[in-house]
Amino acid sequence: MYRMRRWSVRNARWLKSLYHGIEKTLTLCHPLFKRIGYRRLDKTFLVVEKLTKGVLIDSQSCGQCIVGFTGLSCPMNCPKTMRNGPCGGVRADGKCEVIPEMDCVWVMAWEGNQQTEEKEYPIQFVQPALDNQLIGTSAWLREVRIRKAVDHEI
Ligand code: SF4
Repeated sequence: MYRMRRWSVRNARWLKSLYHGIEKTLTLCHPLFKRIGYRRLDKTFLVVEKLTKGVLIDSQSCGQCIVGFTGLSCPMNCPKTMRNGPCGGVRADGKCEVIPEMDCVWVMAWEGNQQTEEKEYPIQFVQPALDNQLIGTSAWLREVRIRKAVDHEI
């Protein structure tokens, strides 16, 4: 999976567009999701996310995905689970302080951000702390609910 992680960061530009496309499509399905029940759908979506995001970006299913901000580098792969990294221990060659054979997740996040060629680097946004209660829940369904809440439709 580490190899795929690296591949996804190198291809962050089109993968991020695909990712946003999926989220937009799912948002359109909100009325259906609401009818079925978000809670009931959560486990199914989690399985799909593990098979897609798990394979492609080595997602650790924290349920509060921020890879759109981190160049598709999942911060949960950081041994210190830094949500606003990097820590102060990145090695001179860009490797992780804790796992020397692994590229620092946040160095990869910077590389992924550069791939996306956006005017503002989303990596600069400060991310909230991890909510442990959301670990193992569907990040996609959460995103749909957040979008609908913003639109005052929930
Ligand atoms: S070097 Fe990077 S990946 Fe390793 S613990 Fe620090 S922030 Fe996390």
